[in-house]
Amino acid sequence: MSRVAYVNGLYVPHAEAAVHVEDRGYQFADGVYEVCEVRGGRMVDERRHMERLQRSLRELRIVMPMSLAALGVVLRETIRRNRVREGMVYLQVTRGVARRDHYFPAPDTPPSIVVTARSTDAAKAAAAAANGAAIITVPDNRWERVDIKTVGLLPNVLAKQAAKEAGAREAWFVRDGVVTEGGSTNAWIVTAAGAIITRPADSGILRGITRTVLFEVANRLGLTVEERGFTLEEAFAAREAFISSASNVVVPIVTIDGKTIGDGKPGPVARSLRDSFYNVAEFARK
Ligand code: PLP
Repeated sequence: MSRVAYVNGLYVPHAEAAVHVEDRGYQFADGVYEVCEVRGGRMVDERRHMERLQRSLRELRIVMPMSLAALGVVLRETIRRNRVREGMVYLQVTRGVARRDHYFPAPDTPPSIVVTARSTDAAKAAAAAANGAAIITVPDNRWERVDIKTVGLLPNVLAKQAAKEAGAREAWFVRDGVVTEGGSTNAWIVTAAGAIITRPADSGILRGITRTVLFEVANRLGLTVEERGFTLEEAFAAREAFISSASNVVVPIVTIDGKTIGDGKPGPVARSLRDSFYNVAEFARK
């Protein structure tokens, strides 16, 4: 089946989908994005993803390219045209096309918008979660505004590539001995005493939608989450570790920098959070 992308008002064959060479996303990484899981053909937590998109745009003073309602139609139509039942929808908005110049372009420059959707292998993802994953750690060399979901992901790209080359799934960024987050995921541990810990999201990390939903999942399971930074030493000594994101939900971590975490198998807390996630996540209408 041929894939279709939405680019600035048109649905075009994926292979021909293109933005201008002077798009500010291409020139300056001057844009933001969202990734939303699709399950059973429906977006998961669309409302929260759209709220975060609007926040990211506000922080960068980029205008919404269309109303939220119109954007919802485009997202659904892109999912439908690509016949995605289980997969992801990706949305990118940039400050638009203008002669290359660092200053913002004229205020009437329309933002660019691209939407793509693709299917993923749910069985493969479930198997990966059942086995648990390895992570490595890298210094957190990113800018301060990682709370904005910008397309400027070079440190994340380098960190994740380093992880891949080391045979790991993800890299955790570490700043001053404290784990901040993963290259494309939020980071969690369960201490030997059983406390679930993840770093506060007021600065230094992206406030993951999955992370937010997991607080409610934990609450419903009678578990409490402590929001504080944890050190790498604490992570090594943890009973469990796991990562969260829209594309992974929850993936248990079984080794960090080659050191076995807990008993080296996915732990019960990570598993139960994963299993209960969709009881709490919001499913959008089709
Ligand atoms: N942290 C970073 C750096 C990310 O890129 C992502 C997702 O892409 C997350 C955390 C997890 O966010 P979410 O749960 O909204 O997918």
